Amino acid sequence: MRPLVRFLAILISLVALPGATQRLQPAEIVVTLVGTGGPELTPQRSGEATLVQTAGQTLLFDTGRNTLDNLYRSHIPPQSVTRIFLTHLHSDHFAGLPDLWITPWFLLGRTQPLEVSGPPGTQAMIDGMRAMLAHDLEHRPNATLPRAALDITVHEIQPGQVYQQAGVTVVATPVEHADGDPAFAYRVESAGRSVFLTGDCTLTPALMAAASGADLIIANVAAGTPALEALPRIQPILAKLLTPEQAAQLFIAAMPRLAVFSHIVKKGLPGAAGDAVILARTRAAGYRGPLRMGHDHTRILIGSTLRVEPITGPLADLDRPAAKPAP
Ligand SMILES: [Zn+2]
Ligand SMILES: [Zn+2]
Repeated sequence: MRPLVRFLAILISLVALPGATQRLQPAEIVVTLVGTGGPELTPQRSGEATLVQTAGQTLLFDTGRNTLDNLYRSHIPPQSVTRIFLTHLHSDHFAGLPDLWITPWFLLGRTQPLEVSGPPGTQAMIDGMRAMLAHDLEHRPNATLPRAALDITVHEIQPGQVYQQAGVTVVATPVEHADGDPAFAYRVESAGRSVFLTGDCTLTPALMAAASGADLIIANVAAGTPALEALPRIQPILAKLLTPEQAAQLFIAAMPRLAVFSHIVKKGLPGAAGDAVILARTRAAGYRGPLRMGHDHTRILIGSTLRVEPITGPLADLDRPAAKPAP
């Protein structure tokens, strides 16, 4: 390797280290793709969940299947996640909530109650979850496991600003998701940076307006082989989500610094080859800006620069009582 090429290779490898990245390019918002899959069972992706950390606040958007395990595998202490926003009440967006609610409390020393924002109907869902776990609620609390930490404050939201704390705001926009309505997209603003999460929805002018100018758009997408897309039982699924072509229209209108697909619903398009089909269709529809398929356990740092890095490194065995209760 020639000296200059080698020097550049070393430089690039240093910049790619997470610690070095944080030092060199401080981020105002850090987004973790915790789970990027749809309801399908695939080896590559797990249930939908996206973590946004900014200004000392930790906000989780949706709690799909395996959210607890996927937070752990993303090196996020699950007991630190107590502020949750649900885009809608389809089960693939909250199936992981019971586990995230109860296990960090009795296993990892979580002392803070949860606060959950979601569409009308969220309170009834939470009441049902508490009824399902009535045995734990009744019998598990003791002197070191306070029952108060199992409280859940529910906010059934309306369109508009649904959260404001220390310079961080979250605005909810109604979206169209057929049998998933009422459903919301969320936009997080902090320190002059912004993240827009579509949740599950199809393309509407309101969605394009709400996403406009966001630094990062995290968009759902659904696609299949031509034969599968023609099936009557598949067409309603595609109609309530974004096709790659609709996503391209959204990105062209909103012009984000980066567009990322998450909640990736694929029918007959497995693995990396299927991912490539979705990217190719988005490009063919005219979007030329920065674009990625989301993968579980990926960190996106948004500051004056915008960086994407996989979350790697050994995982701790959380197999003993916490040394002290988590704050
Ligand atoms: Zn849905
Ligand atoms: Zn969904």
